[in-house]
Amino acid sequence: MSLRNKILLLFLSLLIISSVATIGAVLLATNNDVKLQAQEKLSVGEKVFQRLLQERGNQLRSSASVLVADFGFKEAVTSEDVGTIRSALENNSERIDADLMMLIDLDGVLITSVSDSKMNQRQYPFQELLSTARDNNGLSAILLMDGRIYQTVMLPIKAPITIAWTVIGIHIDAEFAGQLAGLTDLEVVFWGEDETSERSQVATLPITQLPATSSRSMESTSLSSMQEDKHEYLLLQVPLANSKKFKVGAILLASLDEAYARYSPLKLQILVIAAITLLLSLIATFVISGNVTRPIANLVAAATRISDGNYLEAIDVNKDEGEEIAALGSSLQIMQQGIAEREQRLSQQAYHDSLTGLGNRLFLLGQLEQLIGSGESNGFALLRISVNDFDQINDTFGYQIGDNLLVKLAARLLEFAGDSNRVARVNPDEFALLVKTAEANEVEAQLKALASLMQQPISLDDVSLKISPSTGVVFFPQHADEAEQLLRRSDIALNLAKYGKLSQSVYQPGQDESHMRKIVLVKDLKLALEDDLLQLHYQPKVDLHSGKVSQAEALLRWTHAELGFISPEEFITLAEQAGLMPMLTRWVLRSVFSQAKKWHQGGINVAIAVNLSAYDLHPDFPGQLEELINESAVAADRIILEITESAVMVDADTAIKVLHSLRQLGFKLSIDDYGTGYSSLAKLKDLPVDELKIDKSFVMQLEANESDRIIVSSTIELAHNMGLSVVAEGVETLGACHLLEQWKCDKLQGYYFSKALPAADFEVWLGAYEEENNVERDVG
Ligand code: C2E
Ligand code: CA
Ligand code: CA
Repeated sequence: MSLRNKILLLFLSLLIISSVATIGAVLLATNNDVKLQAQEKLSVGEKVFQRLLQERGNQLRSSASVLVADFGFKEAVTSEDVGTIRSALENNSERIDADLMMLIDLDGVLITSVSDSKMNQRQYPFQELLSTARDNNGLSAILLMDGRIYQTVMLPIKAPITIAWTVIGIHIDAEFAGQLAGLTDLEVVFWGEDETSERSQVATLPITQLPATSSRSMESTSLSSMQEDKHEYLLLQVPLANSKKFKVGAILLASLDEAYARYSPLKLQILVIAAITLLLSLIATFVISGNVTRPIANLVAAATRISDGNYLEAIDVNKDEGEEIAALGSSLQIMQQGIAEREQRLSQQAYHDSLTGLGNRLFLLGQLEQLIGSGESNGFALLRISVNDFDQINDTFGYQIGDNLLVKLAARLLEFAGDSNRVARVNPDEFALLVKTAEANEVEAQLKALASLMQQPISLDDVSLKISPSTGVVFFPQHADEAEQLLRRSDIALNLAKYGKLSQSVYQPGQDESHMRKIVLVKDLKLALEDDLLQLHYQPKVDLHSGKVSQAEALLRWTHAELGFISPEEFITLAEQAGLMPMLTRWVLRSVFSQAKKWHQGGINVAIAVNLSAYDLHPDFPGQLEELINESAVAADRIILEITESAVMVDADTAIKVLHSLRQLGFKLSIDDYGTGYSSLAKLKDLPVDELKIDKSFVMQLEANESDRIIVSSTIELAHNMGLSVVAEGVETLGACHLLEQWKCDKLQGYYFSKALPAADFEVWLGAYEEENNVERDVG
């Protein structure tokens, strides 16, 4: 919930509470007042009622006193003649307007009665009253008889002693109730209840349910309220008589409706005032809460902008909005500036090289993307310039000089680039120059100028350095049309220049793809080695002296799952570059030793030649081979090791030591591809080798090419003079065989006999060859 809504809610609840409290208090007060007024009216009414009752009682008593003093009446009573008594009673009842007249004897037995209703009782039913009447010489009482309520007096008839009692009563009827109601402005109910709980009542209003009578309400007046037919009343119960045989009471009812009605305009006014107050307060609260929260909301919006990375919009700090808010605003403003500065610094660091201040690789990538994305460029060239042998400069002169050199080179490049071109430092020893023209001649001229500029000596402290740069060039859009691709292809061009020791190299279409192929092959070759997916094929070497197959050359075969057959020349070069050679040679040697063992056990007396690469001629290599001899129990003279001259020359000292050790272990050594390198036979005499393989390029066209014939024949002779046996590989024709035989070549290898075959096929081939040429197999 927003702060504003919270404030609104708080104020709204306070307002509602106070309004409800006010209205409640007013209602309570008016209700109390209404009840109080009604109560007063009731108590006044009661007094009037009691007075009236007393008045009637007094009248009744005086009328009755006149009657009992009347001589004629006394005589009639004394006569004990009921007829006379009755007529006397009747006469008097009319005179004094009584509704009930009775004569009872001293024992309470009814002698006779006159009443407006027919009187059933043979006997006055309320003997218990008689003793009270006797003690007080008369009695006023309210009675219930035959469902009617009477106000009565009971007086003795004395002649001169009491001879009988007379009861005179007037009916408490609707008329009396109406009279009372008229006087008091109250509703009046008289009720009576006999011993069978039969109720009778006289009322000035139609009333269905009377409040229950309790013993308390029969002792004294009691106040209560009730609802009758949707009208509310306050009522006062007045007990009138309470005896064993009956109960009589009056109820005075003051209607509250009218009083309430009198207050209702007031209530309405209060409600309207409350509603208006509430509404006004609500509007005021809304405005005030807005005023309080607006500056906070503004600050929140500013903070959100900052978190979204928008630092440009100023945060307005208004002193009128309160000190705290203003302080918060200023802090936010300072924070925003701080973040903006730090972010700028970070992005400067992320996109720039701290040493030279030039843009870095990311910067270059951005520039390329921008240039390509804008669609404005018709073409440009990306030049990658590497400071060759920078490591050596560092090693020789120290890092300080190395750093200074880079800084000076950067400055030179910047000057060279001018305003239109861009310079970046993409690797520690590598710069990039973005030349915004794709005009080949122009770029060519720039390259030349750049090369001579870069090669000018640089003086640093006491030293003057001259560097040899290599440059790789890639053109947009001819060579690549994406920034990443451009960078990668410029990398390829530069590497080709660097490793080819060229001053420059322009990217050639397809180089990237072959680069990618290399990456895939290197990765998969490693997997193929681990999963044993390589194979060895065997190509026979035929001994011309015996006509026997004395040796077989083991040649690697790899069929890639997707790319198909991969020539060993391709993957072995890759394995050398990727450092996989030791692993690969180990695999070949294990396979060859195990094959040699099988053939030896199977009576096939064929030594196996294994090709080694320059990377195999490390000092640990002889030890590894010795281990294999011990493990497999294959004699070292069953294995020939073929090494090219160029492999030996990579690190000649180590290689020669290794070759000596290998020879000591009993291996025969053969110089492969003889004639393709630059070395002469003279150099070979220092090598501990047994055999020389004349490269197939001299042998394959032997018949057609005279110079090949001269080279091969003289090489054979010279080699023999040095005590080396000679193998000619690439023998494809019978003619070549004859020539080589004529020149006393020792062994022949080539498609004329067989290409390299899987071991099983080789065995089949060997059987057929031996049979055809009638040679007997030596037992190995
Ligand atoms: P290499 O050692 O000179 O092997 C001889 C190559 O000449 C083989 O090619 C063989 O198939 C081929 N060849 C044999 N006779 C003829 C012929 O009459 N005419 C023609 N045109 N070619 C013939 P491959 O098998 O393609 O091997 C190529 C090169 O791969 C090998 O040259 C060798 O340098 C390397 N290589 C093969 N296997 C291994 C290995 O296990 N280890 C190492 N280090 N290199 C290997
Ligand atoms: Ca070979
Ligand atoms: Ca060869």
